[in-house]
Amino acid sequence: MDFNLTKDQEDIKKAAREFAEGEFPEIAQEHDQQERYPRDLVTKAADLGFIGLNFPEEYGGSGYGYLEKCLVAEEFWRVDPGLGSALISATFGADMVKLYGTEEQKGKCLTPITKGEAIMGSAITEPDAGSDVAAIVTEAKKDGNDYIINGTKTFITNGTVASYFNVICLTNPENPSRHKRHSVILVECDREGFEATKLYHKLGIRASDTAELCFKDVRVPKENLIGEEGKGFYQFMEFFNITRIHVGAEAIGIAQGAMEKAIAHAKSRTQFGQTLSSFQSIQFKIAEMATRIQASRNLVYEAAFRADQGKPDHTLTAMAKWLAGETGVRVAEEAVQIHGGYGYMGDYDVERFYRDAKIIEIYEGTKEIEKIIVARSLLR
Ligand SMILES: Cc1cc2nc3c(=O)[nH]c(=O)nc-3n(C[C@H](O)[C@H](O)[C@H](O)COP(=O)(O)OP(=O)(O)OC[C@H]3O[C@@H](n4cnc5c(N)ncnc54)[C@H](O)[C@@H]3O)c2cc1C
Repeated sequence: MDFNLTKDQEDIKKAAREFAEGEFPEIAQEHDQQERYPRDLVTKAADLGFIGLNFPEEYGGSGYGYLEKCLVAEEFWRVDPGLGSALISATFGADMVKLYGTEEQKGKCLTPITKGEAIMGSAITEPDAGSDVAAIVTEAKKDGNDYIINGTKTFITNGTVASYFNVICLTNPENPSRHKRHSVILVECDREGFEATKLYHKLGIRASDTAELCFKDVRVPKENLIGEEGKGFYQFMEFFNITRIHVGAEAIGIAQGAMEKAIAHAKSRTQFGQTLSSFQSIQFKIAEMATRIQASRNLVYEAAFRADQGKPDHTLTAMAKWLAGETGVRVAEEAVQIHGGYGYMGDYDVERFYRDAKIIEIYEGTKEIEKIIVARSLLR
């Protein structure tokens, strides 16, 4: 067992840190306050190879693995979770095309995405179907050589900025198994009948775009089916097996960034004639933060390592996302606590980190769903 990163991995981590530290701090607060998507930053990150990092070279990527993407996610979220979210999610959905797409679909979507010319989204959640993915009712009816899609998706990341979406639709409602009724269909944003409406006033990650998508008789050719008809539920579970690892890495980044800010404040703030860092209760908080971060990091890296070996472990991934998410939320909260009243004010980054952290326990499977996955694998 080797816990050391390779030279390439160290270089990628360092480059991601330098990029984030150079580009994010000046614009982070403004993008949060104005709920503005950083489109130019996505292009810059793509030019430097961060967006296409884990996609094959034949489609404009760098051919690295999920672990390398974790390193970048961690470094980006460490500096600013909102901007980090926008950049890391720019390819959200592209892994579905990589895993199940035809050569034609890969050429069409992956190349512009890795180059930063296009953005992708994944549309699963509906107003009445969140954790219960099999309850999705957006339907795709066959009409000759086309599908006609009708329905509404909500809370969709990149909803108003993406060119392509993986949309999970009901295609086989008669199948006796509720897990075999859905299919994944690629929908281009310029199809007639497609409409995206931006959702404002999120608690956190406000630089990330979130929207409601409406499909009214959207016609797409049957060639836009990704993978197999009736296998959409299982394809998405495999997809989440990968993407949840990156969400875990985002949580580690947010926790690391919050802890570093807490340490800096504890060393500089004086009360009762001594720095906060001289109080043992503050020292214990820092020690607990660092320990939780390290434990979460080890789990996330192992999950990524296994996925890179072609053996993604859904139990390990669920453990990693749940634990890292809890770490992100707890550490951000303690960082606010160490800042006292200053931590509650918008001028201090930890206030934003605290708001941003919560999303990790909600999207791409809530913490309860992650625990269900872990428990099922043990009790089966
Ligand atoms: C900012 C943001 C971005 C998002 N991006 C996307 C996106 O790009 N694409 C997309 O499709 N979706 C996206 N989502 C949606 C997100 O994945 C869902 O909100 C999430 O899966 C939970 O679904 P829900 O909101 O319907 O909650 P519900 O499923 O209604 O759950 C509510 C609560 O009940 C709990 N619960 C539900 N079922 C069980 C159970 N069986 N046992 C125990 N507890 C249970 C949940 O854990 C949760 O705490 C995003 C959401 C947000 C807020």
